[in-house]
Amino acid sequence: MIAPQATETKHWSFHTDLEKIGWLTINTPGASVNTLSREAIMELETLVSRFEDLANSGELVGVVLLSGKDSGFIAGADVSEFDAMSDFSVLPEALRRTHALFARIEALKVPVVAGIHGFCLGGGLELALACHYRIAVNDDKTRIGFPEVNLGIFPGFGGTGRSIRQAGPVDAMGIMLTGKMLRAGAARGLNLVDKLVRHRDQLRWEGRKAVLTRRKSTEAGWTKKLMALPLVREAIANQMRKQAGKKARKEHYPAPYALIDLFEKHGNDWRAMIRGEVDAFVPLMGSPTASNLRRVFFLSEGLKKQGMKGARFARVHVIGAGVMGGDIAAWCAYRGMSVTLQDLDMERIQPALDRAKSLFKKRYKKKREVDAAMLRLTADPTGTGVGRADVIIEAVVEKLEIKQKIFGGIEDKMKPGAIMATNTSSIELERIAEALKDPARLIGLHFFNPVAQLPLVEVIRSKFNTDEEIGKGASFALAIGKSPVVVKSAPGFLVNRVLMPYMLGAVERVEKGESKELLDAAAVAFGMPMGPIELMDTVGLDVGKSVATELGHDVPADSKFARLIAEGKLGRKTGEGFYKWEKGKAQKGETPSHPDLAGLGKELVKPLVDMTEVVVAEGVVASPELADIGVIMGTGFAPFLGGPMKARADGRA
Ligand code: NAD
Repeated sequence: MIAPQATETKHWSFHTDLEKIGWLTINTPGASVNTLSREAIMELETLVSRFEDLANSGELVGVVLLSGKDSGFIAGADVSEFDAMSDFSVLPEALRRTHALFARIEALKVPVVAGIHGFCLGGGLELALACHYRIAVNDDKTRIGFPEVNLGIFPGFGGTGRSIRQAGPVDAMGIMLTGKMLRAGAARGLNLVDKLVRHRDQLRWEGRKAVLTRRKSTEAGWTKKLMALPLVREAIANQMRKQAGKKARKEHYPAPYALIDLFEKHGNDWRAMIRGEVDAFVPLMGSPTASNLRRVFFLSEGLKKQGMKGARFARVHVIGAGVMGGDIAAWCAYRGMSVTLQDLDMERIQPALDRAKSLFKKRYKKKREVDAAMLRLTADPTGTGVGRADVIIEAVVEKLEIKQKIFGGIEDKMKPGAIMATNTSSIELERIAEALKDPARLIGLHFFNPVAQLPLVEVIRSKFNTDEEIGKGASFALAIGKSPVVVKSAPGFLVNRVLMPYMLGAVERVEKGESKELLDAAAVAFGMPMGPIELMDTVGLDVGKSVATELGHDVPADSKFARLIAEGKLGRKTGEGFYKWEKGKAQKGETPSHPDLAGLGKELVKPLVDMTEVVVAEGVVASPELADIGVIMGTGFAPFLGGPMKARADGRA
């Protein structure tokens, strides 16, 4: 039967049914996720005019907004339009137009209900908040939040005021300032969602019920609203500024501070907050920080497009259950793979299994999930997993002969087509591959310590490899949720190569009597997440020295650096290195004042940026862009500068 009213636009489809319920579905053409592009918003304007007419003439009792995509509801505004939208001559008008559209949705005489599954982020959440009622699927996939701060902005489609209206100022500001993504249950707890269902196919039925019973969400309770009263608000805003200051400096990341200012001004009146949004938002969008963060976003999205379609990895075998091997095995099991973990004997494997259990306990909520992950991870002292594995990763001690022997011994036992990888930090792949009948099989998968926290995996390409082995390696890294950057087999690869001259340069200055506290503070003022001396302590002085030596840097025996190592003061892990460490924190003394801290930081970071240029010129990474994203992910290099190559091009490093 033909529905009484039906319309298709490029992004939306709409029809009414016999009960006069309007079913509105968003389905961004040619994309795996829905985004609210300008075009989608303009089409929605026309549709909302229809809803107004139909509602006025009694032909519409309500609208249910759903997504036609499996990936989720709406992932946000279309970031690819942001550069063009940053133009001061178009942005305010475009924002006001969207504000007006969302206000019209809110003012419709009939209820509009959003049915949410999967990603409901940024502009998508703002649209959902302009609806009268929100139903979300309470499963593992639903994620609700405002990730805008990660792009150097804050919600600009009225989300600031509407989230405060729903969740109260403290919780709403919390999610906007952190960019944290909530599960459906947590979003329900904050009143951002009104009802939970178990499955996506219940959204229609519950949406229908909500329309027919004219359900309407309620605002945050009065106790929450008290937090927006003038004096309290000022105190809360100051507290928020302090919190924000711990994470990011205003001069590097202005968005959180601008949002706090907006809250301080209008936080007791959600409509005023929305009105104030535009003026505060516009300068952020066009700022160098936002533009660089968008670049970083696209570069990191680009990494996800590497690899081979259809590659599947079910079984992983890890050889070496030490610091790295143990953690790599645990991570793969955490990501759902069956893992066998080999070492010389069970005693050496057990500590890795214990660490894995702590990881699973931290990451999973339910005991049965922890138990299932433990079942996926098996101790395998005799290497029975080799023949069945889709991926074999070697992470034994850094000794060429041992690595050669291991690979020589497993080559004939491995499944054809399985990945054969080493986690070596310093040995040339070509030398390890000498032991193989087919040297093209061996690739490097260079993880970073701690494996669970650091997203980068350098996929190391030897001169024997073809695109196929490298493509498989990148696919595997993606399959375990890591970001692969392909790097040629050359000493130090990318990250260690660029870090070393920077860290050693700072160590040398400390040797000459400069304050380590000052140097660390300067690097942070420049935009590094941690100063170089604190970083050396964190990495471990022994590890630092061995990487330095392997890269041809000299560590004089009479240096403080060498002396500390000789005394067993290896940094954070031994409780003392350059700093004393307590409860995982470096105990810092007074920082001497300096007239230009950020300038000093720039000077300290120069060797890192110089070396990145060398690495790019040598073709160790394929492009300056890849070097930028690799160095950002591997070292935390100031994302707001867009990476070392971009910062140099902009004259900022
Ligand atoms: P580790 O000393 O903690 O662990 C090495 C493990 O290998 C030990 O448990 C040892 O018993 C085992 N082993 C030795 N010979 C073996 C054999 N024949 N068969 C099976 N197991 C054997 O070392 P680690 O720090 O985990 O480093 C391992 C590898 O990872 C090295 O190649 C290192 O260069 C690389 N790496 C280390 C780091 C780091 O920060 N530690 C970072 C990236 C890469």
